Amino acid sequence: MGNLEPVGFKPASLPYLGRFAPSPTGAMHFGIARTALIAWLDARTHRGKLLLRIEDLDTPRVIPGSAEDIQHDLRWLGLEWDGPPSYQSQRNPLYKRALLQLQEQDLIYPCTCSRKEIRESSAPHGAADDGPRYPGTCRQGARSRPGRTPSLRFRTPEQHLVEHVDRRVGYIKQDVNHRVGDFVLRRADQLWAYQLAVTVDDLDQGITCIVRGEDLLDSTPRQMLLRKTLQPLSPPMETLHVPLMLDVDGRRLAKRAHSYSIAEARSHGQPPEMIIGQLAASLGLLPHAKPIRPQELLPRWQAQLSENT
Ligand code: GLU
Ligand code: ZN
Repeated sequence: MGNLEPVGFKPASLPYLGRFAPSPTGAMHFGIARTALIAWLDARTHRGKLLLRIEDLDTPRVIPGSAEDIQHDLRWLGLEWDGPPSYQSQRNPLYKRALLQLQEQDLIYPCTCSRKEIRESSAPHGAADDGPRYPGTCRQGARSRPGRTPSLRFRTPEQHLVEHVDRRVGYIKQDVNHRVGDFVLRRADQLWAYQLAVTVDDLDQGITCIVRGEDLLDSTPRQMLLRKTLQPLSPPMETLHVPLMLDVDGRRLAKRAHSYSIAEARSHGQPPEMIIGQLAASLGLLPHAKPIRPQELLPRWQAQLSENT
């Protein structure tokens, strides 16, 4: 298991309501479990609550049974959440309402560009983590293309800087229009885009603290922007973006690539306490991996917080 530098971060300052939001697209690997462990430790240390949200909107990637397996793995590891889990696939009306609101504000437009066209017309400088900047081709009206269902894009403000302070990474800023351009809220395949669903859910559920992998740091300004647009008086929200776990070759553990899953470890007879111990050691919470329960790590997490106040 590839190790990482210890995670240093600041305590949350808001009344704590967190969520852990896995996508049920495969077996839970160690990287996801580690993020779940941090979300759990962080919520418990702040005497807050932790919700479980199953992000099952990307139906072509959802694997049947995976949502149940994730819940089983979390319980087995001792990472209990509060209340019943929510499923994004059951929250369609909420996303629709948000889209309508944005449509009424004239902040949505259809786009019929193909990926290839966007890649070819995008300036080389701007690019988000998840693709080239959208150059705004359809802003003034999409070319009609028989047989092609448009995606719906959010009209991002120009010359507008989104600023945010992450509890671990610190201050970040981004001009969303400049970096990603107008981004998709409803995909051409008629699925809700992650950015819309996650923002609506975090608002609707009153989440005050997000813990997730730092691959999503680049998405945060988009979500903050949407959040302010949907609800100008929205309460503040804190984030803690944690490092992704790397394999021995320094590559990131991806759930789609072949990486060791919690279920596999279990089937090889590893007890949950040993896995928790390995995860804790890789976070610098223990000098060496040894069997331990999540509760026993709470003082260590607390100590990390205090170090950074
Ligand atoms: N569902 C996303 C994932 O599993 C996480 C989304 C989030 O925490 O905002 O990568
Ligand atoms: Zn377009």
